[in-house]
Amino acid sequence: MVDNVENLFSDVVSKARAIDPENARRWFDKLVPVKMEGGLLRIACPDDNTVQFLKNKSQRTFNRAAQQITGHLISVEFVNDHQSASAASKPRLKSPVTLHPDYSFANFVVGPSNRLAHASCVAVSKSPGQTYNPLFLYGSSGLGKTHLLHAVCSHLLETQPNAAIQFLSCEQFVNRFISAIEQGDLLGFQNEFRNVDAIIIDDIQFLREREQSQEEFFHTFNSLYNNGKQIILSSDSLPSDIPSLEERLVSRFSWGLVTRIDPPSHDTRVAIVKKKANLRGIKISDEVAEYIARKMQANIRQLEGALTNIYALASTTQKPIDISLARDALEEHSPAVSRQISISDIIDVVTRHYGVRLTDLQSKKRRQSITTPRQMCMYLARNLTRHSLEEIGGHLGGRDHTTVMHACEKIEKLVSSDQQIKAVIDELSNQIMSTPSTS
Ligand code: ADP
Ligand code: MG
Repeated sequence: MVDNVENLFSDVVSKARAIDPENARRWFDKLVPVKMEGGLLRIACPDDNTVQFLKNKSQRTFNRAAQQITGHLISVEFVNDHQSASAASKPRLKSPVTLHPDYSFANFVVGPSNRLAHASCVAVSKSPGQTYNPLFLYGSSGLGKTHLLHAVCSHLLETQPNAAIQFLSCEQFVNRFISAIEQGDLLGFQNEFRNVDAIIIDDIQFLREREQSQEEFFHTFNSLYNNGKQIILSSDSLPSDIPSLEERLVSRFSWGLVTRIDPPSHDTRVAIVKKKANLRGIKISDEVAEYIARKMQANIRQLEGALTNIYALASTTQKPIDISLARDALEEHSPAVSRQISISDIIDVVTRHYGVRLTDLQSKKRRQSITTPRQMCMYLARNLTRHSLEEIGGHLGGRDHTTVMHACEKIEKLVSSDQQIKAVIDELSNQIMSTPSTS
C-alpha cells in the first residue's frame, strides 16, 4: 500500500466526517484504504456488517467527499478485508501536500517537450541523492511540473520503505518558517527539514523577496546536500531569472541538473487528451481528441478544462460526445454554452463586489482584502461550475488543487457560522446566475 492512497483516504474520511458526523463516530474509525485504481478508491472494512451499513448509508457521502477532494469523478467501494483493516501503518510522508492519485509516472505522457524532465525525475526517484542533485525543473504554468513532483514523491514512497520525505510548496515552506520564528521554535523547524532523505519544493520562485526564508533555505540546502540527500525544486523560470534570489542560491540551484519543460507539441497534446479522458472514464474519438488539441494550445490545464466542458455539455444535454458537441462546447458564443456559468462570470461579479482587480486575485498577495475575494471565487467556482480544483486554481494565479480545496473548506465553514458571509455568498450567487454569460 502506498502513502498517497493513505493521504487521499484520510482526507476523504475527514471530509466524510464533516458531511456525516452522526455515522462517523461509530463506523468510520475502523476503515483503512486498500487501493486506488481506475477512478475507484477501495476501502477495507473489518466485517460484512460494516460493508453493508456503509454501502447503504454512506456511499454517497464518500463519493462526494472523494470527488470534492480530488476534483475528479472518483468513487468509493467498501470491501470486507479484515486483515488490512486491522494492520495499521505509519506515515513517512511529512507533507502538507496531498498526493494526487492521478499524478503518477504512468499517467504522464512523454513527448519531446518534457522527455528530459521526465527522464531526470525517473532517474532521481530510482536513486535519490545519487544522480542529479539538486534536480531543478522549470517551465511555464500548466506544463506538468507539479505532476512530475507528485510522481517522484509517490514512487519514492513505494520503493524506499524507510525514506522520510518532505514535499511542500514554497509558500508552505515560508509559512512554516515564519510560524516557527513566531513560536520561537526554530530548532524544531530545522530538525524537521534537515533530517529527511529527500525534500521536494514546488514553485521555489516564491522565495523571491523573502530574504530571511532564503537565508534559512540556504542552510537547509547545504545540510541536506552535504549529507547526500535528494533535493528537487520546481520553478517558473531559470534560477538566474528568479528576481532577487540571492546569488549563492542561484549557483546552488544549478549544481545538479537544470531541466526545462516546453509547451507540448500537437501529438503530445492529443495523447494527453486521450489519457485524461481515459482516466475520467470518458470515451472520445480520435477526431474529438484532435479537435481539442488543435483548439487548446497554450497549456495542459486548458486541455483538461476543455474536456470538462465537453463532458458537462454531454451530460446536461444527454447527447453523445461527437465532433459537433465538442464544437458546441468549445466554440465561443455557442448557445449551448451560454447557459453555463464560467469562472470569468464569477470573477467579474466578485471583483466588482469587493472592488479588487483580477490581477490582485492572481497575484501572491496575502492581505485579507485580497485573500477573501480570492477564496470566494474558488468557493463559488467549485459550487457553480463543473471545473476541477486544478482548473479553478489555474484561473486564479496557477494555484494548486490543495490551495483551492482549503479555500473551499474555509468558506464552507464561514458560511455555516457567519450570517453575514452567508448573505454575501447568496447575493453573489444570485448575481452570477443572472449575469449573461461571458464565455
Ligand atoms: P505546472 O505545475 O507546471 O503548472 P501541473 O503539473 O499542475 O503544471 O499540470 C497541469 C495539468 O496538466 C495537470 O492536471 C497534469 O496532470 C497535466 N499534465 C501536464 N503535463 C502532462 C503530461 N505530460 N501528461 C499528462 N498530464 C499532464
Ligand atoms: Mg505547479
